[in-house]
Amino acid sequence: MRQGAYQTDYHVHTGRCGHAGGEMREYVLAALARGLAEIAFTDHIPLYFLPGEDPDPTIAMTRAELPDYVEEVRVLEEEFAGRIDVLLGLEADYAEGHEAALEEILRVHDWDVVLGSVHWVAGGWIDAPGSAKRHGTEGSENLWREYYRLLAKAARSGLFDVLTHFDLPKKFGHRMPADVTDAEDAAVAAARDAGVAIEVSSAGLRKAVGEEYPAPPLLRKLVGAGVPIVFSSDAHAPAEVAWGREKIEAAAHAAGAGEHLSFRKRKRRRHPF
Ligand code: ZN
Ligand code: FE
Ligand code: FE
Ligand code: ZN
Repeated sequence: MRQGAYQTDYHVHTGRCGHAGGEMREYVLAALARGLAEIAFTDHIPLYFLPGEDPDPTIAMTRAELPDYVEEVRVLEEEFAGRIDVLLGLEADYAEGHEAALEEILRVHDWDVVLGSVHWVAGGWIDAPGSAKRHGTEGSENLWREYYRLLAKAARSGLFDVLTHFDLPKKFGHRMPADVTDAEDAAVAAARDAGVAIEVSSAGLRKAVGEEYPAPPLLRKLVGAGVPIVFSSDAHAPAEVAWGREKIEAAAHAAGAGEHLSFRKRKRRRHPF
């Protein structure tokens, strides 16, 4: 990475989601050590769209934990002021038919950035451990098509600043069937029309697929359509903060991107890289 460039990480989890390790302070210290100007905490939103009160604490923080999460980010923001900007974000699931409930939750706090994620596809998780077999039992093409239909709706909902892991169904190595290209294109068009940004994430490099999100040809399509980017690691441990940064910067550069975004109170700024 270039010396002096404005470096950020816009997708970072905390122990509250039940599947990440370390203290929040350690994530900030890791970000400082790597020379980042900003770190945005974006832990998983409580499972507002599933029946029952907090049905799975290994997937997301509980409703009761949300105010504590917000408070801890604010405390760190103050502690580290002048050294690194600590931002309040959230990784919010898009769930069709539950948009009003999500809006209600988002209204309560003053977010710097809200990530929009489609993890719940056709009645189940697309990315949880054990989800890989769905590609066999339900058909990979069906899952990919449904995923992109939902992602396009997420873009159009206007609820999100950034769409995460654009081609998430590839996580376990199930590449998108060529027949689904029309649905992918529709999702790209939806992102462009809605003016929403996307993340270039190193997380896929740590998964079975061994490739950043989005895949190089898809990223080229998105950048070519004028969709802006943020850089992210989707860290679930302090050591993963800014992980793979050189690779995703190179990927963004190769796709034709010349700038990335940062957010304050959901307003964007542009930074050349
Ligand atoms: Zn997670
Ligand atoms: Fe996610
Ligand atoms: Fe995440
Ligand atoms: Zn994620």
